[in-house]
Amino acid sequence: MEIIEKIRKIKDITILENEPMALHTTFKIGGPIRALVYPISFDALNELMKLMGKNDIKPLFLGNGSNMLCSDDPIDRIAICTRPNGSGYAPYMELDDEEAGIIVASAGASLAQVAMFALSESLTGMEFAAGIPGTIGGAVRMNAGAYGGEMKDIVEFVETISYYGEERLDNDECEFSYRHSLFDTLDTTIISKVYVKLQPGNREEIQAKMRQYANRRKAKQPLDLPSAGSTFKRPKDGYAAELIDNAGLKGYSIGAAQVSEKHAGFIVNRGGATCSDVLRLIEYVQSEVLRQFGIELEPEVLIVK
Ligand SMILES: Cc1cc2nc3c(=O)[nH]c(=O)nc-3n(C[C@H](O)[C@H](O)[C@H](O)COP(=O)(O)OP(=O)(O)OC[C@H]3O[C@@H](n4cnc5c(N)ncnc54)[C@H](O)[C@@H]3O)c2cc1C
Repeated sequence: MEIIEKIRKIKDITILENEPMALHTTFKIGGPIRALVYPISFDALNELMKLMGKNDIKPLFLGNGSNMLCSDDPIDRIAICTRPNGSGYAPYMELDDEEAGIIVASAGASLAQVAMFALSESLTGMEFAAGIPGTIGGAVRMNAGAYGGEMKDIVEFVETISYYGEERLDNDECEFSYRHSLFDTLDTTIISKVYVKLQPGNREEIQAKMRQYANRRKAKQPLDLPSAGSTFKRPKDGYAAELIDNAGLKGYSIGAAQVSEKHAGFIVNRGGATCSDVLRLIEYVQSEVLRQFGIELEPEVLIVK
């Protein structure tokens, strides 16, 4: 039986075939993927992962697609998406241990939702993440961070589902470092739940901090245009945006892909940019920064083919 037919037999699954990834990434770029699968319960996700294992399929895990650049060509892969898809299934989050300040959230919950939940419980420590437009699962995988905080600081432990079943990994087992975690190398393991440990705080102060960070984002980042956030990781010496700006590349375009005029660390899609436009621009920026300053820039954005 064809794998798609086998997936269809799982209860609580929604499946979209030949679905344009441009509709599922913040860059709004990407050709059709063979199948985009939404497991709408943990049981369904478990069964799906077992099926992937039995058939030796390495799926693409998809959160909010806010750190991805997908190929323009058809992508012959099966994507498993943790986000809700309008089917009525909502990501869940709750206090797991009130005294210890531990919140548990399903991987597909957005960072903004979990941060708002923390605010409602007067728990502090997650303000840095409120404006990062990803899911909490994707944020763990990326060890996402901003304004001096990163996921590493707040993750207590995560629950995962692999080909072989469920597992719990403590913070130190996640091997977090700058924009990296163990999950970079585990292509058969999906993060299913994330437990974050926060501190008791003052609601007004938490809210004020969130507002301050949101205003900084609005002032500095090109939030009106599709992008995948910072295109490059911070190099050992200096800041990517500063180096790109100093190389005279602010506003430089290839096709409809442009080094943002507002923030040189972002490549933006000015409308109809292709993956190949962005890749050529990434290469050009890398070569100019290397030529002018002798510094190699490594993409932070993940390229999916
Ligand atoms: C405007 C803008 C601003 C941004 N600002 C920041 C910022 O300040 N700091 C920052 O760090 N990032 C930032 N980003 C980048 C991005 O939002 C983060 O990297 C975010 O954590 C990605 O989450 P996601 O759910 O969108 O992941 P996706 O892009 O869907 O996936 C990213 C990676 O995680 C994997 N993945 C996703 N879900 C799971 C899961 N459940 N289990 C295992 N693997 C999974 C994917 O396979 C992929 O490898 C920004 C992006 C944009 C567009």
